Amino acid sequence: MIDLHVHSNFSSDSNEEMEDIIKEAINRNIEIIAFTDHIDYEYSDPNISFDFDISEYFYEIERLKNKYNSRIKILKGLELGLQSHIIEKLNKVSNKYEFDFIIGSFHTVERKDLYNGDYYKSKTPEEMWDVYLDEVYETIKNFNNFSVLGHLDLIKRYSESVREVDFSYYKNKLEKIFNIIIEKEIGIEVNTSGLRGNYGLNETLPSKEILKLYYDLGGRIITIGSDSHDKSTLGDNFNETLKFINNIGFKDIYVFEKMKNGKINI
Ligand SMILES: [Zn+2]
Ligand SMILES: [Zn+2]
Repeated sequence: MIDLHVHSNFSSDSNEEMEDIIKEAINRNIEIIAFTDHIDYEYSDPNISFDFDISEYFYEIERLKNKYNSRIKILKGLELGLQSHIIEKLNKVSNKYEFDFIIGSFHTVERKDLYNGDYYKSKTPEEMWDVYLDEVYETIKNFNNFSVLGHLDLIKRYSESVREVDFSYYKNKLEKIFNIIIEKEIGIEVNTSGLRGNYGLNETLPSKEILKLYYDLGGRIITIGSDSHDKSTLGDNFNETLKFINNIGFKDIYVFEKMKNGKINI
């Protein structure tokens, strides 16, 4: 059991203490965990700041690593909010600190929030895909300092009409994105938050057809993460997700340490 997407109270949208998370992860037989708290520069909602003191963050992770050393492996991760106009800032933070693992995620597009729904206003469902995927493409073309692309089809999580657009409509744009990812030897994340029921999605992010496309194009680097913001969802639905990944053809999942990947057979 490896959970590489976990938030603690270093993220403004979680109240969970790191140590409580570690204790619960041990209870759930999780062997490797990555804290991936949010840094989201120029986040679209001015009332929330997704930023924290990284030295303090590393200090607390080191303390827990020493304390629970024999029972669980803890990684220094980050969920970094990507936007095409802030690449300089993104490079600065990812170069300055020694992270093990960085998830690059899009939470804001056109400086508009996906979570609160601003992004979707006055767009057709097709435009919602087009603008989002173009932004992903433009950004990852110019930014390299991350390990995996997080919850790639996140726009589905907050909009039903986005889900109704047929896969064939946006397949080409996804292919372009995957070709870059594969060429740069970056991976993608399989995020199990969509299986939790509260979003009405009932599938992983990204979904099966997208994962299959990635696999067919030669993509092999995948990580798995629960995107837990509280300890009750750690390692959620991992067994069924591993089976499902395996059915697509993937033989391994990946773990990152000091930004270098290693694979583990599933
Ligand atoms: Zn996210
Ligand atoms: Zn997250």
